[in-house]
Amino acid sequence: MISLKIRPNSTILVLNSSYEPLNITSGKRAIVLLLKEKAQILSNRVIRLLNYVKIPFSKIIANKPSRAMIYKRDNDTCQYCGATTRLTIDHVIPRCRGGQDTWENLVVACSSCNTKKGNTLLEQTGMKLTRVPKAPHNKIQFVLKETKIPEWKEYTF
Ligand SMILES: [Zn+2]
Repeated sequence: MISLKIRPNSTILVLNSSYEPLNITSGKRAIVLLLKEKAQILSNRVIRLLNYVKIPFSKIIANKPSRAMIYKRDNDTCQYCGATTRLTIDHVIPRCRGGQDTWENLVVACSSCNTKKGNTLLEQTGMKLTRVPKAPHNKIQFVLKETKIPEWKEYTF
């Protein structure tokens, strides 16, 4: 028998009973699901729910996207002027005004737009976003495509 072990501090991919990726959760939560016999372990980084779930049951960790994910979503294009060089990540609502590191608040901006905007709110600058920043439609697939965890890659499609 292969010994499988979930580490409490790792991130675990949760599959629906249909093997469809559902969510990413903490190792701690995964262990609870295993102990309650609500899930089975497929690998050290993957569990599968025994009962089919229609809606994701817990908050998706990926609501805090990586910089690479923001660049990819925005097609490496400044979301203010369309430039494709000297790119940075801009907080639409500046961090000093309570803006968060979320899909809805991070956009790709060229360094001149970023400097121009500074720590002001959009309304005060006259600058406009070319589109409203949103989380990708299927967040989990987006995350899985970008993952470096080999055990997760086989569940992307
Ligand atoms: Zn720009």
